[in-house]
Amino acid sequence: MSDGVVTAAFGRHYEVTLADGRIVIGIPRGKKSIYACGDRVSLGQLHCNEAPILAHRPRTSLLYRSDQWKQKLIAANASQIVLVVATEPSFSPELISRALVAAAHEKLRCVIVLNKCDLTAGLEAARAELEPFARLGLPIVELSARLDASPLKPWLAGQTSVLVGQSGMGKSTLVNALIPEAAAATREISTALDSGKHTTTHTRLYPLPEGDGALIDSPGLQAFGLAHLTRGEIELGFVEFLPYLGHCRFRDCRHENEPDCAIRAAVAAGRIDPRRLAHFLAIARENESARLP
Ligand code: ZN
Repeated sequence: MSDGVVTAAFGRHYEVTLADGRIVIGIPRGKKSIYACGDRVSLGQLHCNEAPILAHRPRTSLLYRSDQWKQKLIAANASQIVLVVATEPSFSPELISRALVAAAHEKLRCVIVLNKCDLTAGLEAARAELEPFARLGLPIVELSARLDASPLKPWLAGQTSVLVGQSGMGKSTLVNALIPEAAAATREISTALDSGKHTTTHTRLYPLPEGDGALIDSPGLQAFGLAHLTRGEIELGFVEFLPYLGHCRFRDCRHENEPDCAIRAAVAAGRIDPRRLAHFLAIARENESARLP
């Protein structure tokens, strides 16, 4: 029996990197794929470079998204989410709020990367979209991965970071700039699995070149469902709401149109950005309908 880390997830198969650097294919027992990139696992007997995954060690965090029908694991044991947006094409600020809720629930640090800053036409508009998040004190790193990804490096040191973003934000360019051997690693596993068709949609963990942390690249996403969280858990993901929670007239206030709502009063007074309340209401409503039997 040997231990290793899941360094790529391909649905039913996992690439596991052993302590001595060997790469093997881990096959879960049973029908469900319950492991995620970053999981530390114990393997059974190796046979032709394949071994059953027997168990995973306790996780410090588990990031996943879910809708009414299914849940999708993104990464295990991460310490930080790096949210990648760009000056173009336009991005969804609500998706950022969703990632922040997931991060708060798993106690992960968050950094926003504004990529493609060399395309200056969309720069001011993108900054304006990020303003509600800057107000929360979230670090926003402006860079152009195509030219120079180094401004992000100090933020990655010592962290296991998950890169999350919509497709088109230049996430792959960022990974290739930070991890020179990233493209080669993708080719290697395609050979091991004897197929190239998995190479674009999987999640992969890369140790950082300086040996100081790791980067987990997840496929571009258009939705970040939070059906597994309660309304109260979603509220806790909106840090600027915290001073006002419990001060609405009704204990079960939905912050929609109830009288004497402390959250809406804070919006009216300019202490909460109205866009953040809109994100909260959208997430809470979707969550409610997803939970219906
Ligand atoms: Zn309220």
